[in-house]
Amino acid sequence: MSSSATAIANGRDSGMKTLPGPILLLGAPGVGKGTQAKELVKLWGIPQISTGDLLRTNVSLGTTLGKLAKEIMQRGELVPDSLVNEMVAVRLQQPDTANGYILDGFPRTLPQAGWLDGRLATQTQALPVVAVSIRVDYNQLLRRITGRRNCPVCGTIYNVYVKPSKIDGRCDVEGATLVQRADDTEKVFVERMRAYEAMTAPVVEHYRTLGRFAEVDGDRPIAEVAAGIIAAVERLRAIA
Ligand code: AMP
Repeated sequence: MSSSATAIANGRDSGMKTLPGPILLLGAPGVGKGTQAKELVKLWGIPQISTGDLLRTNVSLGTTLGKLAKEIMQRGELVPDSLVNEMVAVRLQQPDTANGYILDGFPRTLPQAGWLDGRLATQTQALPVVAVSIRVDYNQLLRRITGRRNCPVCGTIYNVYVKPSKIDGRCDVEGATLVQRADDTEKVFVERMRAYEAMTAPVVEHYRTLGRFAEVDGDRPIAEVAAGIIAAVERLRAIA
């Protein structure tokens, strides 16, 4: 186990020598980007920026963006780049991003990646992006997606097959009734995977080519996947 992975196990700070900087978590729907982002948040104290979560907040608040995004998301398609980029631009202006941030679910298309790369290139102080792609096979993803349940109060993610709550349908922390995302059905999963293969797989190749890229096996216990991601980020951050 790396020093930071041990640190996580012991609840201590990471031993990373530099700031975390911008970190991209890439991978198909259900690979565990959100779960892993939360592990990194605990360790490094930088925010998770999930474009899916930001869009769902807009949908539930009934904003103009939310009204535009709602049906697109229900179909498992991608929200137009310009809308998502603008939403991310606003979020990145928040002061909590100064030491770094974890982008979860963004960029999902080559134009989004180009936009992000361009934005970072104009920020002379910004550290280069470190990208980690999480891999899980298709059938496993299907089980993860259709079994996923979320606590609407604290955001804890459960899975009826692999990580059930203690009481069926209730959050262990809040006792709230767990909910299933409208797009976590098999039919929508198939469309989301199609969008992933067509639009997002090239983004993974883009960051692989740029370097500061790692791939981890996501079909392992959460703590082991987290340890792999942390070790990869530390190693890639140390590259001069
Ligand atoms: P997620 O929670 O990351 O699985 O995202 C849920 C849905 O939000 C996706 O299926 C898309 O419809 C939309 N979405 C999230 N992030 C993006 C993005 N970067 N670009 C376009 N659409 C997105």
